[in-house]
Amino acid sequence: MDTIDESRVIIQPLNKEWYQHKVAGIDMLRLDLLHPVVSGNKWYKLRLNIKHAQETGYKSIVTFGGGFSNHLVATAYAAKLFGIKATGIVRGKYDVLTPSLLQCKAEGMELIFVSQEDYKNKHEPEWAEKLVANFDEIFFIPEGGANEWGRAGAGLINRFIKNTYTHIAVAVGTGTTLIGIRNKINEQQQILGFAPMKKGIYLKEYINEHIQPGKNRNWQLFDEWHLGGFGKWNDELLGFMNDFYTQNIIPLDIVYTSKMMYGLQQMLFSEAFAQEHKILCVHSGGLQGNVSVKDKLIY
Ligand SMILES: *Cc1c(COP(=O)(O)O)cnc(C)c1O
Repeated sequence: MDTIDESRVIIQPLNKEWYQHKVAGIDMLRLDLLHPVVSGNKWYKLRLNIKHAQETGYKSIVTFGGGFSNHLVATAYAAKLFGIKATGIVRGKYDVLTPSLLQCKAEGMELIFVSQEDYKNKHEPEWAEKLVANFDEIFFIPEGGANEWGRAGAGLINRFIKNTYTHIAVAVGTGTTLIGIRNKINEQQQILGFAPMKKGIYLKEYINEHIQPGKNRNWQLFDEWHLGGFGKWNDELLGFMNDFYTQNIIPLDIVYTSKMMYGLQQMLFSEAFAQEHKILCVHSGGLQGNVSVKDKLIY
């Protein structure tokens, strides 16, 4: 039951002033408009996972994430849409639930809390087996939807990407979305991945491993625009987000897409592009994560 209406997605040109006319055009693919909860790339990464689980006869899904995880919230909601039970294994213990975790509960997700230390076992089936009942009936989705169904699902985003774009900018958490898109679009098109964490360049390994043979060209990963690290922000980033909103009327999220656009603007100003280039930026959503800085944003 795919009940999220993709017709809400639009391609919105940015204000040329924002990029000082340095390239022929920059558009934004507004996947954030898909749905207020399951926004952006998460829906694409989850839909084939849940479909597979249901078609194979699994009774429920279990996945993993931190207290601020967009993936957990999206999974809770998508599972409800598909009518399958979902459990989230949460890294860390919370006396007071975060807005994301409250939302997971509101969507009917069962939460199991484990210590930071324990969470490191998340790849070991024997560990997960001890945490959940009816292990054999459960389909496990890795953190961030980073598996073959997640990558194939992310590839469906290609339906919005015309051949006329020379560059596609994507925010990178696990790299699953970047891989899915790389595997599906025209090989000549360059993909620019922006990792919002320190030393995010390590993600190249997973990305390299899963790009289809023969397609492993024309993608780059940048990790210098983390602004202090994953989930970290400063006044400069907030100012950037507010200016971006004023000029383009597009809200960016504080974790991923703001750092992508910040990095892209730095590249534009350092003349990394040619005048004839045409760039598509994927707005992968995540706006519900802005609640923590709500009073500092003008939107
Ligand atoms: C989760 C998320 C990402 C990261 O996607 P990956 O497929 O894990 O690389 C990017 N942007 C937003 C807004 C996200 O919530």
